[in-house]
Amino acid sequence: MCGIIGYLSRTKGVSKKIIHNLKKLEYRGYDSSGICLLKNNKFLVKKSVGEIANLEQKLNYDDDCVCGIAHTRWATHGKVNLKNTHPHLCPNKTWAVVHNGIIENYLELTKLLQDKNIKLKSDTDTEIIPALMEICEEKNNMDKLKYVTGLLSGSFAICLLNKNENALYVARRHSPLYIAKNQDSCMVSSDPVTFGEDYTTYFPLPDDCFARVDLDTMLVYNKNFEKITLAPCEIGSFEKSAELGKYSYYAEKEISEIPKVVEQILLNYKTVDHFKKLNKQFFKNIKKIKLIGCGTAYHACLMGEKFIQKDARIEAQAYIASEFRYSHPLISNDTLCIFVSQSGETADTLLSLELAKKMGAKTLALVNVPYSSIARSADITLPLCAGMEVAVMSTKAYNAMLTVLKMLSLHLRQLNKNNVDEDLKVLNNVDYFKNIDKIDEISDLVLKSEKVFFIGRVEDYVTSLEAGLKLKEITYINCVSLPSGELKHGTLSLVDNKSLVFVIATDENLLSKNLASASEIKARGGKIVLVTNLDVKRQEEIDYLYKFDKISSSLSSILSVIPFQVLAYKTCIKLGYSPDKPRNLAKSVTVE
Ligand code: GLU
Repeated sequence: MCGIIGYLSRTKGVSKKIIHNLKKLEYRGYDSSGICLLKNNKFLVKKSVGEIANLEQKLNYDDDCVCGIAHTRWATHGKVNLKNTHPHLCPNKTWAVVHNGIIENYLELTKLLQDKNIKLKSDTDTEIIPALMEICEEKNNMDKLKYVTGLLSGSFAICLLNKNENALYVARRHSPLYIAKNQDSCMVSSDPVTFGEDYTTYFPLPDDCFARVDLDTMLVYNKNFEKITLAPCEIGSFEKSAELGKYSYYAEKEISEIPKVVEQILLNYKTVDHFKKLNKQFFKNIKKIKLIGCGTAYHACLMGEKFIQKDARIEAQAYIASEFRYSHPLISNDTLCIFVSQSGETADTLLSLELAKKMGAKTLALVNVPYSSIARSADITLPLCAGMEVAVMSTKAYNAMLTVLKMLSLHLRQLNKNNVDEDLKVLNNVDYFKNIDKIDEISDLVLKSEKVFFIGRVEDYVTSLEAGLKLKEITYINCVSLPSGELKHGTLSLVDNKSLVFVIATDENLLSKNLASASEIKARGGKIVLVTNLDVKRQEEIDYLYKFDKISSSLSSILSVIPFQVLAYKTCIKLGYSPDKPRNLAKSVTVE
């Protein structure tokens, strides 16, 4: 993960601008941060452990520098401490670097450096980069960069400063990097969200390319060292939509945006025919669909699998991206692979996409970030229209994924000549937060329990997985999610009078089976919270009934997850943790 930034200006005093924008990348990692400014051919470095606010305390913003790089870290190699915090310098202090990614062959390259008597100070995989630049015998700095990046395997987005130049040297492989320029300044960044205030366009740096950017020129080369010209992208409202407004936390803001997001999707898909290319011709030879994602996006894939099989009667299967790549997948040109990712940069999903393309599959992506690598690489992309999501815990993007996957499954059903009677417009008229105040009491039940379980069947099982992930992610409470029918195959042995079990039931046909599972739990002393929008006549097994708004069972999953998103948020606040920045995690997982 990590967020990197490089900035060069005609006006002195760049540290304030750099830190202001680094904060916009904090969602990418926040275990430590650092800045390196260039002053009279010397590097001034400040680093701090913890959030960027800690680094800020060490800066008084009175620098008279025109050039700097900065980093907010999510450690992959080496502990979280000052020594490992970026920027890293080479021994003779000619080069400074910030890096996002993993250098897989860093041990081998460290050995090469040791043989040349170069001593490294940190435990990171990153520090070898400036050291290799120092010992590289090429004369020209661009040649050095080409040579050094050629030695690296793994993933990287790097920005380097040379002490003798007001210029930014950048390169990338798999990890994202963008460049923006105007008359007075230029900036490179891991996310164009930092460009909104000062630039109108930006350039995504293509994979395996490198560049030198200064106030007057931008030289970009591909891996064959041919000069290339980059096409600019307009900065849209997405890049500007990260304001917190009246809310205390992004998690709270983003949950509150769910109804608007769904409305936006329906409107956007009505105005633009995103399904146009997904026509009969496209699906002519498609016999099976694979849906691939990680974390919450994987849960959306599981839900998509159920939607597609039920609505369109096409064989569909969901995969965890990091497993998919190594499971010898059976893919050919009769396979459609659907990649789901909020950021569109999830490394495992992106690498799975590359594999699927190589094996001849047709590819479709569902992504929220329109300019992302996955969006650019898939044959067709369906936008999620959720606006920028900042909190590490994904909420509104999940509801958006389900909405778009439902639209897709209904579109497929229509292509198969089955009439579609489902009208998604009903989603504009439901109360997404019905009875939501009651979650407060339920969160007290969670806090009083020793063990928490989430169970359901089919789509409700997927919701139980997502509910469990939300709770674990931001409250650090250990919980178990499983299909109701699986309880008696092992996990029921854990249930006792200190257990709280959430039973999710949105399918009339499965209600009695779910209530039977509730009885089994009750008989072992467990407490039951039934989360449903059905009419429940028999209530003796239930300790607490939470009812959300009525909607057809095929759309229920878009709503049924919301009480659990709110439950995780409320419980997290009561425990005094940060709902936006949970420990050990970061938002955009750009490392494998
Ligand atoms: N590998 C580098 C480190 O541990 C960068 C980490 C990253 O981008 O996630 O410091």
